[in-house]
Amino acid sequence: MSAAKFPHKVVLIDYDEKLFAPMESEAEMLARAGASWETYQLRTPQAVLEVARDADVVVIQTVRVLLTREVIAQLPRCRCMIRAGAGYDSIDYKAATEYGVMVCNAPTYCTDDVADHAMALLLSSLRHVPRLDAAMRQGRFARELAIPTRRLKGSTLGIIGLGRIGGTLARRVKGWEVAVIAYDPYVGQDRGDQVGARMVGLDELLERSDFISVHCPLTDETHHMLSWDEFARVKPGLILVNTARGPIVHQEPLVKALEEGRVWAAGLDVTEQEPLPPDSPLLRMDSVILTPHISANSPEARRDLYRLICEISGAVVQGRIPEFVVNPEVLGHLRKEG
Ligand code: NAD
Repeated sequence: MSAAKFPHKVVLIDYDEKLFAPMESEAEMLARAGASWETYQLRTPQAVLEVARDADVVVIQTVRVLLTREVIAQLPRCRCMIRAGAGYDSIDYKAATEYGVMVCNAPTYCTDDVADHAMALLLSSLRHVPRLDAAMRQGRFARELAIPTRRLKGSTLGIIGLGRIGGTLARRVKGWEVAVIAYDPYVGQDRGDQVGARMVGLDELLERSDFISVHCPLTDETHHMLSWDEFARVKPGLILVNTARGPIVHQEPLVKALEEGRVWAAGLDVTEQEPLPPDSPLLRMDSVILTPHISANSPEARRDLYRLICEISGAVVQGRIPEFVVNPEVLGHLRKEG
């Protein structure tokens, strides 16, 4: 369908073709709302301006910061910018707000997948799956590599950040008969009751947890939240899982705690530097399982992501306020359709 047939335009400027390329259904879904759908893989602000000047909605997927103040100032028709993912630091949020442009994110598309991945890292660490598998492939039937292990049932999982993903994980591990405690200063015990977790302070979580899984956002407050003092206080034999953001866990004290055995194992989908530099000590520790920031990935997540983008874009072009506006302060002075 040609773009000229539609009064509105939605443009995706920058997508990750390996994991989250657009589905084939967006153009049809948006056509029903009266909008055309164009997709690009642009790398420079100038290229973005060439395709987005007449767009009503601009969608950005990768974390490259392309929607800068300068670019936003030159998008006179744009009423909404969508980050196709949870974090929205690739959009100059303040500038968008000043220009009356809504900023939305898509925070729900991968909740189940990240919770699955956290569980995969925990179970793989506990049961030593990677090192047993590697030995088998080298022709070694090395059953001694399975020692030591522990039983999941009866243990305590500490969750940091009891939002969507943390809450989903809490609900799921109940099936393993694991006790769940959680630290989240922004929610109360009513949230804990919804998902079967007892809310505790950070100190208690560190001291009691057999396993800790990190699910809070990266903020000034959570940067290096697990550092020297915290690793000194954890229950010896801890397994740490991080699928949230690398810099929440301070790498140097983690490595020290792993070397000393105080932390028994770590399953990390995210690290302070991504990709890890070749000389990173994490790469030579067999108590560490690493995956390349991949927790969100599944065909279902991809489908849900694009469905969400179409729903948000459809609402905007039809003059409705969409879900997941992250700058609600803009609602009092929204840019009018131009
Ligand atoms: P969410 O907003 O639903 O939940 C985050 C929770 O963290 C909230 O309940 C919040 O109150 C809590 N929190 C905030 N500050 C805290 C603090 N100082 N201490 C403890 N808790 C705190 O978010 P979500 O959808 O559950 O996602 C959680 C994080 O997972 C995201 O911020 C993102 O960084 C990460 N993530 C990673 C991937 C990946 O591919 N690895 C994919 C999606 C999300």
